[in-house]
Amino acid sequence: VEVIFETHPFGSALLHRNVNEQPPLALSATGNVIHLDNGFNMLDGSCGAAVSCLGHGHLPRLGEAVQGAFKMFYAPSLDYSTWPPEKCAEVLVHTTIGAMSKVIFYSGGSEAVEAGVKLAKQYHCELGDWGRTRIIARQQSYHGATLGCLALSGHEGRKRIFKCLLPDVVSHIPACNPYYDRYSEETDEQYVKRKAQELEDEFQRLGPKSVIAFVMEPVVGAALGCVPAAPGYLGAMRDVCDRHGALLIFDEVMCGIGRTGKMHAWQHEGVAPDIQIVGKGLGAGIQALSATLFNHRVAKVLRGGSGTFQHGHTYQNHPIACAVGLEVLNIIRDDRLLENVECLGHLLEDLLHEKLDSHPNVGNIRGLGFFQGIAFVVDKATKQPFDVDLHVYQRFHEIAKQKCQLYTYPGNGTYDGLSGDHAIIAPPYNATEDDIREIVDRF
Ligand code: PMP
Repeated sequence: VEVIFETHPFGSALLHRNVNEQPPLALSATGNVIHLDNGFNMLDGSCGAAVSCLGHGHLPRLGEAVQGAFKMFYAPSLDYSTWPPEKCAEVLVHTTIGAMSKVIFYSGGSEAVEAGVKLAKQYHCELGDWGRTRIIARQQSYHGATLGCLALSGHEGRKRIFKCLLPDVVSHIPACNPYYDRYSEETDEQYVKRKAQELEDEFQRLGPKSVIAFVMEPVVGAALGCVPAAPGYLGAMRDVCDRHGALLIFDEVMCGIGRTGKMHAWQHEGVAPDIQIVGKGLGAGIQALSATLFNHRVAKVLRGGSGTFQHGHTYQNHPIACAVGLEVLNIIRDDRLLENVECLGHLLEDLLHEKLDSHPNVGNIRGLGFFQGIAFVVDKATKQPFDVDLHVYQRFHEIAKQKCQLYTYPGNGTYDGLSGDHAIIAPPYNATEDDIREIVDRF
């Protein structure tokens, strides 16, 4: 297909992130390499934004899944069901080993996060508790680009110009970020206790019976660069929520669906939420797919109450998208990819430490499985972040692409929701040892 840019006065008719710049065209991709029209062969070290979790080598199986579902007509999900979402939901619930009992599919992470929050609100209303109006989230977090999700997010850089449009119902407590906020003399237990107290204090400040839910990412992605919750943290937060009858929502859009070496990131701690969101990897970059899962506690109240979930999107439970989701889950199982991520995740971590620990501007390397973040600092000793205006994360990203033909996912917000730069390495689950070594070498 030839794309003719000259037909439009400002280059291509398509709006790009950099409005004044035409990005290279990606012509094709093989394995984990994207071939660009400028002659570059970009090694995809992060699956874009932790999306194309099977790389580009599994197209035959995913293609067949799409074709199988293409035979499907469009059946309005308001009144009918189809087999792909039915089957995908069954398999997804099965992976939670009883923790979750129902699923609804959407097209993107933000839609699914908003559905989760609305579900939590409806849960309380079904119980006759209409007084709960507040959500607690965390200061370093990213939950999506819609107004509701931006309000939830603790990412000043992404919120700044839209603040006046955001619903004022969310308060933010500090995230769990031991590199920055743990005192050197604190034990694991003391640290987690202090973090749980921060949540408890917020409940008390708002009025404990006014909180709908606490929303968090078990491993913080875009806002912190792969920072896992400290051991014991998820359980401690669960206890605080339970004490006050608020629901616990885990946003696993970035860290879920096998990215950390377990199907769900919360499975590292064995602490399940009431509502869980997944996205990105579920569609493997082939289809736009996300899901909101919820447990029996929520399902029971919904069934016994109005019996209707008061939220819907046109493309929810979409047959073709769900056929791909189902096949992604099947491939992860058939090819034993969780084992690969866990095993080679240790190698990735070790190599990063070996090669980068001594670098004066690498403050911290952290993560789980194939979800590793590298934080950049001015000075290791003081952990001082770079000036926001230097855009170090973007400059690193450009240099990695131009000089090393390596794609990693850039981010900032680590320190205070605005400054603090990092890069994320998130290889596809079927990466080999050689792939991992190559990514680290180029990085
Ligand atoms: N939650 C998290 C944790 C995310 O990382 C993202 C996307 N980066 C979203 C929600 C929003 O997903 P989407 O961009 O698909 O709407």
